[in-house]
Order: sequence, then C-alpha cells, then structure tokens
Amino acid sequence: MRALVITGPGRAEVVDLEPPVAAPGQVVVEVERVGVCGTDVELFTGEMSYLHSGHAWYPLRPGHEWCGVVTALGDGVGPGWLGRRVTGDTMLGCGRCRFCGDGLHHVCPDRAEIGIRRGFPGALAERLAVPARALHALPVTIDATMGALVEPGGSALRAVRGAALQPGDRLLVLGTGTIGLLVALLARARGAEVHLIGRDEPTLRLARGLGFAGAWTRASLPSLQWDAVVDASNAADLPALALDLVRPAGRVVYVGLAGSPSRIDTRDLAFKDVTAVGVLSGSAGLAGTIEAYADGSVDARPLVAATVGLDDAAGVLAGSRPAGAGPGPKIHIDPRR
Ligand SMILES: [Zn+2]
Ligand SMILES: [Zn+2]
Repeated sequence: MRALVITGPGRAEVVDLEPPVAAPGQVVVEVERVGVCGTDVELFTGEMSYLHSGHAWYPLRPGHEWCGVVTALGDGVGPGWLGRRVTGDTMLGCGRCRFCGDGLHHVCPDRAEIGIRRGFPGALAERLAVPARALHALPVTIDATMGALVEPGGSALRAVRGAALQPGDRLLVLGTGTIGLLVALLARARGAEVHLIGRDEPTLRLARGLGFAGAWTRASLPSLQWDAVVDASNAADLPALALDLVRPAGRVVYVGLAGSPSRIDTRDLAFKDVTAVGVLSGSAGLAGTIEAYADGSVDARPLVAATVGLDDAAGVLAGSRPAGAGPGPKIHIDPRR
C-alpha cells in the first residue's frame, strides 16, 4: 500500500509498504480522508516537542485526524465493526495505569498517539491498523470531510466545556484556525454569543461567512465583557491577553500551543479570581462532536480549503497551498487518490 513517511526534518515521501494486519484487539481501516494539522507540520519541520523529548522519532508516518471503513478484524474484536465507517481517538493509553483506569488515558504517561507518539503509524496511508477500543462509529449523515474533522472537533468541544458557558454568556475565541472556528461553531450551537479575534481580514472573512458578525482583529476588538476566553492560537502572547480580557471570576481555556513559552502572570489569575483550564486532546469530546455534526447543529465543512491526494501531502506539510484552495484553514488528504 502507499503511505506518506517523514524521514527527517523537512523530508517526506510516498513509499510502498506491506499493508497492516489486524493484531489481536485491532481493526484495519481503509482510510477515506485525513486532515493535516499544525502538529503534523511541526513533525515535518522538526519543531514538535516530542521529537526533542524522545517521545517521537523518524521515520514517522503522520495522520491522526481521519475516517474510513473497517475492512478487517483482529482476534477478540466484535463482528459488528466490520464494514462500519469510523473515526478514532488519537490517544492510546497503556490500559493499566491509574490514569487509564480513571478514563484519563489521554494523559497516560505510557500512551502512544496515532501518527505522533511512540512510533504508532498514522493515517496518511491507504490502510491503518487501530485498536478497536479507540474507535467511534460514524452515522451515515456524517460525510468523509466531517468524519475527518471529528478529532479536532473533540478538542474544540472540550475547550467549550472548559468555558462552562451559561445561556447567553459571551465568549471570545482567540484564533481563527481550525480549532478556533470549531470552538466558535460548537459554542454557538450551545447558545453562546461568540466573538473571534483573527490575525487578518481574509481569516475574518471566513468567520463572518460562517455567521460570526463579531469577528475582530486585536486592534478593532470592542470593549465588551467576556464571560470566557478560549485561546486557540499559536501566538505566545495571546494566553496572557486571554487572562487580561476575561471578566473577573470568568474562565480562560488554553487549547492553543505556541512554538515558544507562552507565559501568564498568576497574580492576574488570583486577583481576578479566574479559573484557567488546559485542554490537550479531543478524546473525551469525540462522542459529543459526532452528535453535534450528526444532528446538523454544526457544519464544519467550510473549514476545509482543499482535498488532495497522497502525492501532494509532502507539499502540504511544507506549507504549500493547493491550487484552487478555498479560504478555510484545513487541508484534507484522500489517500485513495
Ligand atoms: Zn490534529
Ligand atoms: Zn495508562
């Protein structure tokens, strides 16, 4: 089968590999669609922190935002999975430690992460082997585009939950990338008044096209009371801005990751009696995201700018935008092309 492999910083190629076999407890998925995200780009450039902490290494096959159809079952997997359209949790806990026992497998110290950590091969391939315990079934109302947007949606939904919004609360989202826009869409579906800050006009146009009249630059942001602020940016100074802007006794949620230390002054946190929440993964938000996509309350498809084949994946990782790409922040890969 064909698969994309990152062989070193700035180097990726499509290679021919033996297709995976479903080990006990695993299924093999024929991959329909894969999203490329900032983590994949950092794995390609060599900046991703796991490459420096020893949790990830080359060669590496990326791809953790995916959907596909189950085509083979390993021993011990229920027959009901065969032929199902699925997506899956990136985080694969050890299954034995206290975190795993408490449903917190996404912070298991011994976890693998599909396409990211501990060499677990990712979805940028025609086929992917996945533990059945990581699977989430997709209803037919969720197409391949939305199916590959469940994983980032999970992180966004957990950020929305972290904001603990009450009906009518006003939320400010910092960043108009995939996570920022998904946070905005999911929070609006829950009845919040949502505003966003974006870097420039083109990204704000997309937000406005999604119906967010309150799409601002940092300079044009009106002085309103923000009940919660979600930082979904990769800017090192915005976490502190989130804390600066939130109302007293409000909540700040940190789901964005900057490439350099992004510090806050805890005196601001204490003086304002603010609750801060960090979100690492979408694990506990995947089921809720599938519900929000399936019931039509959130349509995330405008976020996808283009869908290209595996041969174009290395270029996408290197930052090139496919010809004819729309305004969305997300590029999808169809490994069957
Ligand atoms: Zn991702
Ligand atoms: Zn564990």
